[in-house]
Formats: sequence, structure tokens, C-alpha cells
Amino acid sequence: MSDLPCSIEALPAETLALKSQDQQDHQFMLQALQLAQQAALAGEVPVGAIVVKDGAIIGRGGNAPIDSHDPTAHAEINAIRQAAQQIGNYRLVGCTLYVTLEPCAMCAGAIQHARIARLVFGASDPKTGACGSVINLMNEEKLNHHTKVTSGVLATECGHTLSTFFSARRKKT
Ligand SMILES: [Zn+2]
Repeated sequence: MSDLPCSIEALPAETLALKSQDQQDHQFMLQALQLAQQAALAGEVPVGAIVVKDGAIIGRGGNAPIDSHDPTAHAEINAIRQAAQQIGNYRLVGCTLYVTLEPCAMCAGAIQHARIARLVFGASDPKTGACGSVINLMNEEKLNHHTKVTSGVLATECGHTLSTFFSARRKKT
């Protein structure tokens, strides 16, 4: 029976191996980067976010405050809103949020209100980052929910998308 055509040995290694968390993070961050690039095309600061539950994307958001006349329309908020609608629950228990840029204080608050289990971000934001750069709301002992944080996933690519956008905008003005 060992020469069955579909024996386990015949399958390519990647089919068998469960993807490591690093590989998954990398793959989902690429999806968030695509949303950031779409935001840039719309003239918005390029930040993209996705919400993942059980390995499936349930929410996508691009940064869109200018176009939507809404100062709260950050990528994370847009992705959280879509995810909550998708599962019909205001709490996103067990979900991971991927975002290309370190969340601001507003988004860090929303992530905690949503009970998101894990946050993965790309580039750090030394000006408004509220997950370690300016302040760290994610491990503030006085707050009741703590989201696990992984930073620096595709940080170079995420940062490059932002710096390219800003240098192009400076040239225009
Ligand atoms: Zn924000």
C-alpha cells in the first residue's frame, strides 16, 4: 500500500506544514499593504488594516478621513466596523487586527473596546503611535483589556509606502 499515488510523501511540503505564525503575519500584512496602497491612490495617507478570525479575513479598511469627511475613519476603525457587521457582534473576541502603521490613541482604544486578542502592526509611528512609541495603551495596567502586540512585521515595506506618499505630496505642493 505504500505506493499509492496520493500517499502523504507525494504531497508538496508546504501542503502538509501548517503555516507558522510568522508566515501568516507576513501574508496578512501584505493584504493590509494593498489597502494602504489603495488609500494612497485616493489621496489619503496610506494606511491599511484587516481583521482576521480563524484564518479568514472578516474586515478590511483603508484610511479615508478626507474622502469621508470623518476624522475617525482610520484604517483600523473601518476594518473593525466591517468585521463587527460581518459577524454581527460588537466584540471581536479571538480576532487579530493587522495594520501597516502603529495605531493612534483613538484606534488603540477601539481595538481594546472591540476585545481584539492580538494586534500586529508594521511601521512604528513616532508622532502619534499609542502602542509603544509615544505612549503604550496596550500594556497600561489601569485599563482592563490587554491586546497582545507584535510590531515590525514588514516594517520596511509599510514605512516605504508612507514615505513615498509624503515625498510625492511634497513635490506637488
Ligand atoms: Zn488611528
